Amino acid sequence: MSKLFIAQDAAGEIRFIGEVERGAECGCLCPECGSPLVARQGMANDWHFAHEASQERPECGAAALHLLRRFVFQLLQQQMSTPGFTLPIYRHELTLTRSLVHLREDAQWAPQILGDVQWRPEALDDGEPVARARLDTGVDLHIFVRFGDAAAAPARTDSEVASLSFKVRMPPTAALRDRRLAAQQLESFGEFFWEHHPDTQGLVRAAQERLELRGDRIYSNWLSMVDAKRQALADAAAPAAPLFYGPSSPDSADASRRHACAPGHAPNINFTFYRLNQQEAWLLYLLERVGPNDWRTAQQKFYALAPYPAPFEGWTEAVPRAVGVPDEALGFIRLAGFLDAVTYLSRRARVTRSHRDPSAFQGL
Ligand SMILES: [Zn+2]
Repeated sequence: MSKLFIAQDAAGEIRFIGEVERGAECGCLCPECGSPLVARQGMANDWHFAHEASQERPECGAAALHLLRRFVFQLLQQQMSTPGFTLPIYRHELTLTRSLVHLREDAQWAPQILGDVQWRPEALDDGEPVARARLDTGVDLHIFVRFGDAAAAPARTDSEVASLSFKVRMPPTAALRDRRLAAQQLESFGEFFWEHHPDTQGLVRAAQERLELRGDRIYSNWLSMVDAKRQALADAAAPAAPLFYGPSSPDSADASRRHACAPGHAPNINFTFYRLNQQEAWLLYLLERVGPNDWRTAQQKFYALAPYPAPFEGWTEAVPRAVGVPDEALGFIRLAGFLDAVTYLSRRARVTRSHRDPSAFQGL
């Protein structure tokens, strides 16, 4: 059972145990039952008020908390009428969690009170707002007082009304002896906390859209990387028919199609298409083997990036040298590494496709 650490005097004013006379001289009444109280100010730490007849009841102990709420209410009134008082910034954090990504976006703005605050002391003990006001964002504001770890009312995200809580922690017993100490504690640990602000300016919706766009982009890049990687694995597992044979390997009969837009490509392979912007599009493909390699043991594969459908202005400068080096005579960029190129391209690509016939990419 909690003890009465504050009481009220005959005039109904809040009195702390440390600011009254000792014993029956304290002149205080129990806020709950109205009985006269005595102030117990012993040597020990727990100064408190007791009923004269020592008839403590649980309801009477709880009444101290109600008085403390009233005290907080008065502090809040003072604090909010101080010149220069501003409300905290409203932040709405959005997250997007999918199997590959965990993304965050913030929407925030700084609503401020317009005009007078309407205080409602009668609402102190229930879940009603203790104050109402109008915000410069054009919505009504309800202010609540929450003590300790009291669970916040479930945030009504569809509400047209903004809600703000003043959250305070219970001061330590020693601080509850003295009005100034208690006020200091409550003010330094009290904190405004936005519960809700309707999205009247569309900022939350915009953040949500940004988030989904980022998620989609990461997904499509990832999918095109997987696509290209799978292609590389397929190339490695089943080498295309060699162009330069050992002495016993005759050229195969199937006339593999050649594509002018992909100089030097190996026969019977897939082409990956990347459109980066309106002007810039590329074909990524495996180069045919040249030279006296024994194709059956050759581990290394060489890839090219050709401007599609034809060389465009500045194509030799378009890709960083770390990704590949242009060969102007042949009309393609010789890639340093396959995965580096795919990573570079898929991060920038607006459209990615894969096909056996490069003409399938026309108009993409
Ligand atoms: Zn009482």
